[in-house]
Amino acid sequence: MNFKLEEIARVSEGHRAALKKLKISTVLDLLYYFPVRYGDTSTATTIDKLVSGAHVAIFGRIIKASTKKAFRSNMPMAEAVVEDDTGKVKCIWFNQAYIAKMYTEGSLVKIEGVISARGKDKDELYFSNPHIESVARVPDAIGDSLFVDGGKESEPPYPIYRESKGITSNWIYHTLQKIFKDENYEKLQDPIPESILTKYNLPSLKTALVWIHAPRNLKHAEAARKRFAFEEIFLLQLERQMERNAVMQFKPYVVDIPQETIDTFTSKFPFELTDGQRKAITDILRDFKSGHPMSRLLHGDVGSGKTAVAAATTYALTMTRPMKDRDTRQSFGHLQTAYMVPTEILAKQHFDSFIKFFQHLPINIGLITGSGCRKFPSKVSSNFRNGNNGSTEISRNQLLKWVANGEIPILIGTHALIQKSVIWKHLGYVVIDEQHRFGTAQRKKLVRKDNSFMPHLLSMTATPIPRTLALTFYGDLDLTVLDEMPHGRKKVITGIVLPKHREEVYEKIRKEIQAGRQAYVICPRIDEADADKSGSLKLRSAVEEMKRLKRDVFPEYNLDVMHSKMTPKEKDLAMKKFSSGATHILVSTSVVEVGVSVENATVMLIEGAERFGLAQLHQLRGRVVRSNHQAYCYVLAENNSDKTVERLKALSTAKNGFELAEYDLALRGAGALTGDKQWGITDIGMEAIRNLRLVESARTEAKMILQSDPDLATHPLLQKELDSRGLSHFE
Ligand code: ADP
Ligand code: MG
Repeated sequence: MNFKLEEIARVSEGHRAALKKLKISTVLDLLYYFPVRYGDTSTATTIDKLVSGAHVAIFGRIIKASTKKAFRSNMPMAEAVVEDDTGKVKCIWFNQAYIAKMYTEGSLVKIEGVISARGKDKDELYFSNPHIESVARVPDAIGDSLFVDGGKESEPPYPIYRESKGITSNWIYHTLQKIFKDENYEKLQDPIPESILTKYNLPSLKTALVWIHAPRNLKHAEAARKRFAFEEIFLLQLERQMERNAVMQFKPYVVDIPQETIDTFTSKFPFELTDGQRKAITDILRDFKSGHPMSRLLHGDVGSGKTAVAAATTYALTMTRPMKDRDTRQSFGHLQTAYMVPTEILAKQHFDSFIKFFQHLPINIGLITGSGCRKFPSKVSSNFRNGNNGSTEISRNQLLKWVANGEIPILIGTHALIQKSVIWKHLGYVVIDEQHRFGTAQRKKLVRKDNSFMPHLLSMTATPIPRTLALTFYGDLDLTVLDEMPHGRKKVITGIVLPKHREEVYEKIRKEIQAGRQAYVICPRIDEADADKSGSLKLRSAVEEMKRLKRDVFPEYNLDVMHSKMTPKEKDLAMKKFSSGATHILVSTSVVEVGVSVENATVMLIEGAERFGLAQLHQLRGRVVRSNHQAYCYVLAENNSDKTVERLKALSTAKNGFELAEYDLALRGAGALTGDKQWGITDIGMEAIRNLRLVESARTEAKMILQSDPDLATHPLLQKELDSRGLSHFE
């Protein structure tokens, strides 16, 4: 069924645009376009049974829809007449004239609300401002129930799809009905082996598709959803395992440096390593000499000190000579390390940290970002003065030349680091910071065609995610967890604050600044324009809040603002001013969430906290846990309902970010996890993340299949499935 939708259904111009927007082009795409939920008909009645004052729902067809101005007030309004088998009823919406445009004549709708009455005898019934939604079909037997085999079976639930202008649930439903009747539908083959379906009691593909789009009851719909959730996780696991196997085929550079050498290096750090850091370094050193390319995930809460682990293991590479050249029997230079981070700010910050870790050694470190390149050490030693870090700006060409001939063994940067123009001499190690999408395809591009050495990979993340998601998303990586904070770190004091106590927080901020510290104020929006779009003017925006605070609250201090609409240069400048202490209070959006580290900042106020997931709040709070000063985080919710406050309290009680992620998942569903789009998993797949057993079974089955059939040679359907869904990254 991988052919164009046009071949089976009538697709008008209007439909085409909408389908494109929904990313549906083939029949199969539509079959996999699942309802977002199901409506039920239990509160529904028919038009002939309406009585004034009752709260009811009806199903019907719109036979007239128009906009007009209300009689006296001149207010724009929409009016529609809805008809079912038993009669007609009028509906009006004040101030919502657009409804008449959205629901045109012929649309099937569900109307729900309170019945009003007007006219002389109050006998003219109508709905005023009812809830309206388009439905796939008008249920058959409203009010009555169907008797099946003596048992009572209620009217089946009806599917509700995410609509787009030009496509209604109704159209989707009827097109699917056509597809189900098409002869090709019968030929649809199930990629999941039957033995697995039987083992986990999952419906077959054909059955599940019918059950999910046109269920007889909610149990069927649920069984179907479970099957598709399993399918998605299973395919993802297969893909990840295959990627892992593919990586294992390559040769790595063997890095065999004695532990003592590393210990000597780390003993120069300005702090004592934690046991967690030591163990992580040991894990990595073991992988380095194992003879296989390492694929490891270092999962550690914000501030747990992942950079130091990266630096210590990078040192091992710089102490290793590449294998001897076959012809000359000589070896030159050192193995190289690429350290990739998501933003320019972070690239600069890590460049600075690495300079501190390596400055006593004759090792060159390069920085490459979209807006320029630097190298350490500079030939001119005066560069160390004036607050400079001893590095110097160099041209991109010069830098690339030194990377290509191996003179720069450590290169830190943004995505610019893995572009084609960057040629490495002996790239042995890739460290990735918070880059969830860095996959095997990208990694393979770093392998030089002429020597086929696969660099070791260390992927680092602080993103608190539930275990199930980690198993799924990072299924191809070995895991090291840094579950311990540096010694002497004090727990952040977190306060859930009501808006009326905002002033007290300001006083606390003032006190910290007087003691020489700095502060963040986090706002959920960038500026007023941004607030307009979201329709919630109440939410504070960074730009306006900065002005207000400067004017009314902190006229004696320097305030600055940071948000994602600023250019990299502007952001860099704002960051520099804050790091140097010139700015006392940085008013920012959540752009500071990832990795930003200013040790002297010890207090944070988060406005509109209900807007953020717990895990995200935790990340934000991590910005003030960079030193051994006591830190404070004030979480202020505009909406201070008990439920919100209850949820936010988890910030003080949970042990770590992972626990908060589990909370989010349980309380608010998968959508609450930070940036769920970034995981490349559909909504249904994310639902599966709630189900540890399902994820583990999918993982086990994927492993078992690949053990006996590593290339899926005897599972052509699965292989095709991986290809056709674009899941596979294999070239
Ligand atoms: P993250 O894991 O969030 O990337 P960083 O590597 O940025 O954390 O480290 C956070 C801060 O803690 C840095 O200022 C770093 O120098 C410091 N740090 C790292 N390890 C230790 C340690 N063992 N003891 C004390 N401070 C440490
Ligand atoms: Mg970090």
